[in-house]
Amino acid sequence: MKSFSALTTLVLSAWLIACNGPASVPPSATGESAALNAAIMPAAALMAGGGKGRTDVIEKITKTDAEWKKILTPEQFYVLREHGTERAGTSELNHNKKKGVYVCAACGLTLFSSDTKFDSGTGWPSFWAPIDPKHVGTTVDRSFFMSRTEVHCARCGGHLGHVFPDGPPPTGQRYCMNGVSLKFEEAK
Ligand code: FE
Repeated sequence: MKSFSALTTLVLSAWLIACNGPASVPPSATGESAALNAAIMPAAALMAGGGKGRTDVIEKITKTDAEWKKILTPEQFYVLREHGTERAGTSELNHNKKKGVYVCAACGLTLFSSDTKFDSGTGWPSFWAPIDPKHVGTTVDRSFFMSRTEVHCARCGGHLGHVFPDGPPPTGQRYCMNGVSLKFEEAK
């Protein structure tokens, strides 16, 4: 009986670890002011400073689920705030070949350039690098009995997708993104 209990404990522990990967990415634990929360800068404002969507300091944005639900569609909320995954091949951005930038659908932070987009054949918009490494963050995602590197917006913590080490040159990285987490802004 003792060995049975030990086995049960082991199985339960493994299940709990698998199911409780990074269930959510706390955008910020510093409790920034409401003013910060309201300061959702459009990509254009960010680009005005550096010309390439760069900014030196990423000020975090924190909102409650109720606040996010007011500005996101149910699908955006599911992917960005609940770590969901859109069905492969469903995003209009998957085959988008126009020149421009891809910004966070939740907070507008510039995330990827069309210059680094490539056709991965996966059914999700894919890039070989972010527009600025400071604009994305990563965590280890151990859900679904796998260990993957989850990618999120550095400003609002919104879940974007995952990055894999099987991308094309020059980085060898494949940022596999949910199109619903992105908005495309065509270059003028
Ligand atoms: Fe964001």
